[in-house]
Amino acid sequence: MVSIDDKLQPILTEVLRRNAGEAEFHQAVHEVLESLGRVIAKHPHYLERSLIERICEPERQIIFRVPWHDDAGHIHINRGFRVQFNSALGPYKGGLRFHPSVNVGIIKFLGFEQTFKNALTGLPIGGGKGGSDFDPKGKSENEVMRFCQSFMTELFRHLGEYTDVPAGDIGVGGREIGYMFGQYKRLTNRYEAGVLTGKGLAYGGSRARKEATGYGNTWFVEAMLATKGETFEGKRVVVSGSGNVAIYTMEKVAALGGKVIACSDSGGYVVDENGIDTGLVKEIKEVRRGRISEYARLKGEGAHYITGGSIWDVPCDVAMPSATQNELTGKDARTLVKNGLLAVGEGANMPSTPDAIHIFRASGVLFAPGKAANAGGVATSALEMQQNASRDSWSSEQTQTRLAGIMRSIHDTCAATADEYGAPGDYVLGANIAGFVKVAEAMDALGVI
Ligand code: NDP
Repeated sequence: MVSIDDKLQPILTEVLRRNAGEAEFHQAVHEVLESLGRVIAKHPHYLERSLIERICEPERQIIFRVPWHDDAGHIHINRGFRVQFNSALGPYKGGLRFHPSVNVGIIKFLGFEQTFKNALTGLPIGGGKGGSDFDPKGKSENEVMRFCQSFMTELFRHLGEYTDVPAGDIGVGGREIGYMFGQYKRLTNRYEAGVLTGKGLAYGGSRARKEATGYGNTWFVEAMLATKGETFEGKRVVVSGSGNVAIYTMEKVAALGGKVIACSDSGGYVVDENGIDTGLVKEIKEVRRGRISEYARLKGEGAHYITGGSIWDVPCDVAMPSATQNELTGKDARTLVKNGLLAVGEGANMPSTPDAIHIFRASGVLFAPGKAANAGGVATSALEMQQNASRDSWSSEQTQTRLAGIMRSIHDTCAATADEYGAPGDYVLGANIAGFVKVAEAMDALGVI
């Protein structure tokens, strides 16, 4: 890891001590503090008023039991989480993740990142994150519904369109949001559409929300490539994952003339030198809820499935990690750079390890950190809240135009902030500083609360 400013070291030491064993949260805090040395040199009041300590401490952390019955009548107990990280800019906003790996440290890292990401969108939303160690894989429709209802039966008392507005994340898509919204409505006897985002179009969802994170990341990378006179046209692109973010990244990359040659799931990856058929991936993943291994069998010639090894061994011009945290290591980064990598756009949250980020930055690879590049999802969630508040429903074109403008503005803010702080082209520094300053200024204005 890169060292941090001496004045910030005691803050980091205290975060590590008070949040023992939460490796991902430590990593996320370390990465932001690395960027803040230049800020406190220019604006010492952030340090004097303890704004950095305050920003590292969640406002509220909720952990609860989620009991549910499976189809055979057996009782299961999962753990639910909601970390309401920061509400200086607006109601807590951030997704719910259902995955067996979920624990409080992972939710805290995600909530911390979310706070800065949401600030970068320029929209009035605070940061939060939640989820459960429930694994939706292999569960029946009824089991998923019963779990979602039980989860919401506790969580609902902590939510509200002016308080906390969750959305989806890994393992939580339109189906799960529907069941949770239904239960919230039943428990509160209120049709409070703005309490959850990522809803279906039939009951208050926004057009283009499903596509937003992947499209947004692609537009961010397009803007970054343009600074070097490059475009996606003819570029070989590797996208990890095959879920919501990955699918719509692949769709937009192809629309901009790029060729996606590989994607994955947690079982392995497929390479298709003719270009991944996004329609087929959608059919396998969104409709049948199947495995990516089926792609090679269904596509036939030119496509093959690989287990073991790393998707990042596939030579490419642009890498778009869109699965999960720490999926792209230092070793992967070295291979990618050796193979002539031009740019990275992080669709997932914190997918590159600190080593990998260091290698990309040192090699002059254009690097878009997740907290900036994948902000399109939450930005469109905020647009969904706007539509719900005004009882309106925008066209897909209108929503995508707003989203494209927001992504351009996030890109330009990160680039301009990096310039201002003497590190042109460093989007990590630009994103961390711009996000931090926005939240810290609001917190300072609100007093010590
Ligand atoms: P999905 O559940 O739709 O898809 C996740 C994909 O990643 C699946 O292909 C899954 O494979 C794969 N995956 C998950 N865990 C692992 C793992 N440990 N190793 C390898 N592959 C894995 O989730 P999303 O697409 O919504 O989210 C992907 C990432 O993007 C996450 O980091 C999320 O926080 C981030 N993100 C999502 C946003 C959104 O709008 N949805 C917004 C901003 C960020 P398998 O099916 O085998 O588990």
